[in-house]
Amino acid sequence: MRDVIVAANWKMHTTPADAGELARIMAARTREPGVTRVICPPFVCLTAVRDALAAADDPADIEGAGGIQPAAVGAQNVHHELAGAYTGEIAAPMLVGLATWVILGHSERRRDAGETDALIGRKLTRAIDAGLRPILCVGEQLDEREAGAAISVVDAQLRGCLAGHDPVTLVSAGMVIAYEPVWAIGTGRTATGADAATMADAIRRSLTELGWPDAGDGVPILYGGSVTSANIGEFLAEPSIDGALVGGASLKPDELAGIVARAGLTARARGLAS
Ligand code: PEP
Repeated sequence: MRDVIVAANWKMHTTPADAGELARIMAARTREPGVTRVICPPFVCLTAVRDALAAADDPADIEGAGGIQPAAVGAQNVHHELAGAYTGEIAAPMLVGLATWVILGHSERRRDAGETDALIGRKLTRAIDAGLRPILCVGEQLDEREAGAAISVVDAQLRGCLAGHDPVTLVSAGMVIAYEPVWAIGTGRTATGADAATMADAIRRSLTELGWPDAGDGVPILYGGSVTSANIGEFLAEPSIDGALVGGASLKPDELAGIVARAGLTARARGLAS
């Protein structure tokens, strides 16, 4: 059974002074049995968010509360080397004790930092070696979708990022794939649930061809791109979609609470919670 996951990408928002309080509010308002919650703040806010979540979601308090898992902390990136002369960068081992998840290959980093599939593949190795659970982002541009190339673009991204990786190791590391059509990120425009499901099925076909166990059935696939509390239901109604990577709406407590509440219904419907 795959996890139902809501991951909040706070991008370049919040400060160490306000991130902890926002995380505390988010944790308190999103306790849904069977839903894995991940908050990914900027690097400098990781400590504040980790401490706030540890206080808000003390396992002793939520134990026995019907399958509520403590909210987890994620980073938004790691460097592809372990250490060295890379001014301003953060290596995966530096995150140990601060984060347990990491977003890799976000389209904003592909666009702004020139990240290639091969580089993202190297980051994947570093993340897994550091014990971080990766959320690998893939997705096509608008012109690629309009040209009917969405599936082949995403297939090529997967092959590029996953080349040389052992599928069994990635499955054991709990790797998640986020399908994020680039034209839907931060634009208010979304894919349809049916389109997202078609892409999730295509992703699992690619994984099958790459030799993944159980035809990629164990890999959670999230949709990302202008997800809100109003549209999350359309994506989670699709059995092949296991949750969402949420940007803008994840900074608004009412929105995130609504998204996670809907994910809770899915977790119950899928037998992950009673
Ligand atoms: C994202 O940051 O991955 C994202 C999908 O952003 P938004 O929800 O704002 O489109």
